[in-house]
Amino acid sequence: MRKEFLPFSRPSIAEADIQAVGDVLRSGWITTGVHAAKFEQEFAAYVGTRGAVALASATGGMHVTLKALGIGPGDEVVTPSMTWASTVNLIVLAGARPVFADIDRDTLMAGPDQIAAVLTSRSKLIIPVHFAGAPADMDPIRQIAAERGIPIVEDAAHAAGTEYRGRRIGASGTAIFSFHPIKNMTSGEGGMVCAEDATLLDAVRRLKFHGLGVDAFDRSMQGRSPQAEVVEPGYKYNLTDIAAVLGRRQLARLDEFNRRRTELALYYRRRLAEVDEILPLKDPPYPMRHAWHLLIVRLDSDRAGLSRDAFMEGLKKKNIGTGLHFRAVHLHKYYREKLGCARGMLPATEWNSDRICSLPLFPDMHLEDVDDVVVAIKAVLNKK
Ligand SMILES: *Cc1c(COP(=O)(O)O)cnc(C)c1O
Repeated sequence: MRKEFLPFSRPSIAEADIQAVGDVLRSGWITTGVHAAKFEQEFAAYVGTRGAVALASATGGMHVTLKALGIGPGDEVVTPSMTWASTVNLIVLAGARPVFADIDRDTLMAGPDQIAAVLTSRSKLIIPVHFAGAPADMDPIRQIAAERGIPIVEDAAHAAGTEYRGRRIGASGTAIFSFHPIKNMTSGEGGMVCAEDATLLDAVRRLKFHGLGVDAFDRSMQGRSPQAEVVEPGYKYNLTDIAAVLGRRQLARLDEFNRRRTELALYYRRRLAEVDEILPLKDPPYPMRHAWHLLIVRLDSDRAGLSRDAFMEGLKKKNIGTGLHFRAVHLHKYYREKLGCARGMLPATEWNSDRICSLPLFPDMHLEDVDDVVVAIKAVLNKK
């Protein structure tokens, strides 16, 4: 058994990153400034879109985007239940109704058919989720949305560096990325709203900082013009330069991180093929580049004679950390009790919610760590 605990995720922070953050701390300007502005430009250039707005989190980005799109009471917002709860919470907090699309059983993503099945005359927004580093099937989803005049906001929290049909996620439409420490790149906490629509970008920029009408970063002032006025009440979700400088350095290493994640993931796939009780996810059938944000497997619990929770507990005892991405949102207490959600609504989502488990995957891992995970899995399964 491994001597040291292997976490399921760990950010890759270099000494030079620590130095860069230290330089910002010593500079006299630590909140939103030059680094946040450069981070936005560099991220927009990386994904290949018109512009981007950096925020304190992807959740903050989703909050202001829903506000900018005018989502409110009487509106329905379609999204999968196999997602992080933040999106669904924000839909409810906006006074709108979340409507859950089921997912493909083997990619964990809602595709055009699952989304079309739940659209109504009240649908005002679709939020597809790119899952685990693979892209959702955006072309047909965009076509369905365009036919009905419904906007799309892509949850790209797992998709920094992901490509769909030869283009990076974020290159077109509106996509929100997360830089939480477990994501493919981190700024400590942080998020980025990428959009082609200049009006939407302006609204997001305004709403993320008090609703002030002027945001141009004034280099002589090191900030906003003191004369700026509130043009609509906004929030406070700006990203500090302490975080932005780390984000910039991580962005420069993102492709290298993702190459390493891919090597590890492919090795995992080979090794796990030896274990009948472990069911891997499938790659989507369309052209794509996987960013391998998460290494998710499903435990065939009938065959193993072991629940997923017991499996995770067993691995922990063997010093292997795991994650759960995600427990279906519609089965959380609030959504069962207040929205009347119940088991049976979303069969593929529920089947996976009971069986998925995220195994350790991060760029600084070694192939020997993967071997340790596979050995531990075999031991846990044989013990029963
Ligand atoms: C992490 C995550 C978010 C939220 O990102 P934050 O930056 O933590 O707000 C949203 N959606 C999904 C699918 C995520 O995994």
